[in-house]
Amino acid sequence: MIVPHKPMVMEEPTYVIPAARLKEFVATIFATAGCARDEADRIGHYLLSANLAGHDSHGVIRTPRYLYWLRQGYVRPGQTLTVVSEGPSFATVDGNWGFGQTIGPLAVDTGVEKARAAGVSMIGLRNSSHLGRIGDWAERAADAGLVSLHFVNVGGGELVAPFGGIDRRFSTNPICIGVPSDGKEPMFLLDFATSLVAEGKVLVASNGGKPVPEGALVGLDGKFTSDPSALYGPIVPGGVRDLAHGEGALVAFGLHKGSGLAFMCEILAGVLAGGATSGPIPGGKRGRISNGMLSIYLDPARFGEPDFLQRARAYANYVKASRPTTPGTPVLVPGEPEARSREERLRSGVPLQKQTWDAICAAALSLGVQPPTL
Ligand code: NAD
Repeated sequence: MIVPHKPMVMEEPTYVIPAARLKEFVATIFATAGCARDEADRIGHYLLSANLAGHDSHGVIRTPRYLYWLRQGYVRPGQTLTVVSEGPSFATVDGNWGFGQTIGPLAVDTGVEKARAAGVSMIGLRNSSHLGRIGDWAERAADAGLVSLHFVNVGGGELVAPFGGIDRRFSTNPICIGVPSDGKEPMFLLDFATSLVAEGKVLVASNGGKPVPEGALVGLDGKFTSDPSALYGPIVPGGVRDLAHGEGALVAFGLHKGSGLAFMCEILAGVLAGGATSGPIPGGKRGRISNGMLSIYLDPARFGEPDFLQRARAYANYVKASRPTTPGTPVLVPGEPEARSREERLRSGVPLQKQTWDAICAAALSLGVQPPTL
């Protein structure tokens, strides 16, 4: 059952939707739009996975935009990887503009297979459509027992000003590191954009959700702001957010340090993997974006420390034992917030702002798919 409720922290009313029902609704939209049922199910699965992890910015809110890309031919259904170059412990692969929810797992599985054989592997992925929440790919590697590192860029997705600059030069370039667990505790998962906030968080804020922090954006005048219109131009409730309409930029986190990491993501995931960098895609259409990802996979069983998982857990417990600055708010290690969110949302349902829900329903109705009744 879908329960409307008015939360205390949200500015917009939200609906809380059971996870399985939300996934099925999104999958049906993509199946009706022309994806094979297994691909539509994967899109539903991974978009929901981002919501379950608490990263609503990369969850089902993306449905209208993905559908727009599909209609424009920016993303192609039914694609697989093409190998560009390959050795025993590396490969460069082309995603052929397929859905990231199909291309991402194929790229990870290639890296896992090679790392199992060689101990370590490197996969450069170019020309994937949106890979969504990168933590999903580290979790897939961790399920296979591997440590993984991922550097990601967004071709055609200039959004972030470099340190000291106003003009957009980087994309939000996430970095992700995953370490498997012994199965009893959540894995360690560091997964964040190198911008102060991910673009999707500005998207959520523009739909009446949690506001972004002051200083997350910079305007044309060089002044810092939290106003989503710096990115999208005037905000029309329920309208498609067009990044070309805003004149400002997102700001990199951590001054020159985050800006430097974003730069290196472009060099590794854009240039080395051989796809586009964050500037306009050569010969590309406005609004089309690609994700590049350079991933490194390590098999901890091959590095001479048989107690790796136990020692990592013991160290995490030591870190967590640091006295909290705010009594009652314990220190967490990377991955804990996502694990907690997943447990809670699988139990209680996924909260969605009304504008987000309405936009997904409008996308569904445009295909003749009837949304679940509230
Ligand atoms: P964020 O700022 O919420 O940071 C998340 C990370 O910080 C996680 O590793 C989490 O475990 C850790 N964390 C959060 N609170 C913590 C605490 N109190 N103590 C210890 N660790 C804590 O993430 P973000 O920058 O908003 O990114 C959100 C998502 O967007 C990510 O999943 C990222 O992969 C995705 N993203 C994707 C793209 C793309 O092009 N596909 C681009 C940008 C971002």
